[in-house]
Amino acid sequence: MDASNDPGLRCWLTAAAESEFPIQNLPFGMFTTAGDDQPRAGVAISDQIVDLVAVERGGVMSFPTETMLRDNLNELFEFGAGPVRRRVSELLTAGNNELSRVDNRGILSRAAATMHMPFRVGDYVDFCSSEQHATNVGRMFRPNDPPLMPNWKHIPIGYHGRASTVAVSGTPVRRPAGQRLGADGPTFGPSRRLDIELEVGFFTSHPTQLGDTIPIAAAHDHIGGVVLVNDWSARDLQAWEYRPLGPFLGKSFATSVSPWVVTVDALAPYWVEAAPQDPAPLPYLAATPNRALDLQLEVDLNGTVICRTNFKDMYWTMGQQLTHAASNGTAIRSGDLYASGTVSGQQPDQFGSLLELSWNGERSIQLDNGESRTFLEDGDTVTIRGWCEMGHGQRIGFGECIGTVLPAKDDGGGI
Ligand code: MN
Repeated sequence: MDASNDPGLRCWLTAAAESEFPIQNLPFGMFTTAGDDQPRAGVAISDQIVDLVAVERGGVMSFPTETMLRDNLNELFEFGAGPVRRRVSELLTAGNNELSRVDNRGILSRAAATMHMPFRVGDYVDFCSSEQHATNVGRMFRPNDPPLMPNWKHIPIGYHGRASTVAVSGTPVRRPAGQRLGADGPTFGPSRRLDIELEVGFFTSHPTQLGDTIPIAAAHDHIGGVVLVNDWSARDLQAWEYRPLGPFLGKSFATSVSPWVVTVDALAPYWVEAAPQDPAPLPYLAATPNRALDLQLEVDLNGTVICRTNFKDMYWTMGQQLTHAASNGTAIRSGDLYASGTVSGQQPDQFGSLLELSWNGERSIQLDNGESRTFLEDGDTVTIRGWCEMGHGQRIGFGECIGTVLPAKDDGGGI
């Protein structure tokens, strides 16, 4: 095991051990503080941030250059976040005092920072990799057919989403308007079935050239880090528009990501063997080992946890998703986002969307404040949380992915 993952490693910040951002995590994000509106790269430790620009200027970290630490993490992850994380780990380890040469030790409070999109997302792909989710949706929308489409266990199904509306956690989500099919045909107006999708996404690190593919054994070399994703979905718009070409405006109005990118290095101890696949995947997708991530997830709606599940139970793994996405020779850039698809476990309280939790709006979801929901109402706040268990109560946390629903721009009858 890499020394930076050692559960016994201690940080000279005494509160760090109890945090979801202990020294074994060290996720990367982009932040600003009052008076400086150019985002710069930082590493989260406990409730603090290591300001990588300040550390680089202080001369205790000779790489990467300052330009790699500005605006977004694309260049930094293409360079390699691993060596930077290992150096930050050294600097924070109990007994190391090198940061005393930097103003304020290069550390500031996370409460004083505003988080920004970690990457400039060139391309965004969303998959549909949970067998339970695909089965649930099939049962609801195609009750007379087999719930899984015939291709589902052969191809990691996905579609290209809209990169420009991927936004950092905390960005409000405006209820979209669109075409909704009613008894008298379609009308245009605010979505009445606004939903969430609990997902996990990865950002790519090393790019490929047009014509290149990514062999399954090398897929993890291109995965830079992992975030929580909420794929906000307008089910009424989606249901009417999606045939025959797939999701479009019912998805492209908002996708939220958590601000702290947990690196593949921090996650190294938490990969487990994925469940066997039947039928066996085609050879180009046959991974040995086929790695799934043991990542606990929960969805909170207005203060009530409505779903608890685990990412390791997904049918298609991240490596298979990326190898499949690159298998036709398309170019992969640093900072592309690949989201898993809704994470749904087998039990009804493990379903990762309101569509499934309310079973197509037929059952109410009870909240602790006495209210109930089928789909989202204006003002609702959804918070996704995730963490890997280190043992002894310690976690490699992913922080939160939050969004609050704003009313549609014009929810009157005039549109
Ligand atoms: Mn999705």
